[in-house]
Amino acid sequence: MPEPGETSFDRARRAMVVDQLRERGIGDERVLAAMAGLPREAFLEPGERPFAYRDGAVAIAEGQTMSQPWVVARMTELLRVVPGDRVLEVGTGSGYQAAALATLGARVRTIERHARLADAARGHLAALGIEGVEVVIGDGSPGAPDGAPWDGIIVTAAAPIVPPSLPAQLAIGGRLVIPVGARGSQELLAIERRGPEDWFTESDGAVVFVPLIGAEGFDD
Ligand code: SAM
Repeated sequence: MPEPGETSFDRARRAMVVDQLRERGIGDERVLAAMAGLPREAFLEPGERPFAYRDGAVAIAEGQTMSQPWVVARMTELLRVVPGDRVLEVGTGSGYQAAALATLGARVRTIERHARLADAARGHLAALGIEGVEVVIGDGSPGAPDGAPWDGIIVTAAAPIVPPSLPAQLAIGGRLVIPVGARGSQELLAIERRGPEDWFTESDGAVVFVPLIGAEGFDD
């Protein structure tokens, strides 16, 4: 049933949380609440807004995508963010994932190689009044050693292997969430740093992301 004053976007967002996220196993109530409160349509160009809540990736500029809602939720859950965490995102895209992390109380630095996307993402975040996100233009594949150690690193583009620089930039107890594999099909990995030289890796199944292009990613 529609609620009073609800827009079609609000209804679609409620349905997304129930049908795409909760029903398919997203159980972290904080992640569900963050995504229930974030208007995905505000991170898209007007022509793509009707597709904001579809069960798949949505086109943004530069041939890139805003990830499927379930994938955003699962990666966020795997990162286990708590308020005050310092999180590095590689692959700003629309800014939606960074906004979800900031809503959970993280302080986020997000790196995007396309200046046009980075500028648009800054605009979307500012328009919604979302604070605590720094958008940087550049190649994020080697991470950001100047800000390390990070409590979490989330790479929202597919890497051929785990970029060698990233695991060492995690704090002890920190987590790296990253899709790794060939162009066109990858495995989602969650890597936890358990000690100075101790990393524990779990696989969370198959995903498909656009490629991470850069010094520690794929060639352009
Ligand atoms: N997290 C994004 C969102 O919420 O909309 C979706 C990211 S999109 C699937 C992947 C992004 O990674 C693209 O915008 C792409 O330009 C960017 N990217 C690819 N390689 C990169 C690199 N080496 N450094 C920074 N950004 C990169």
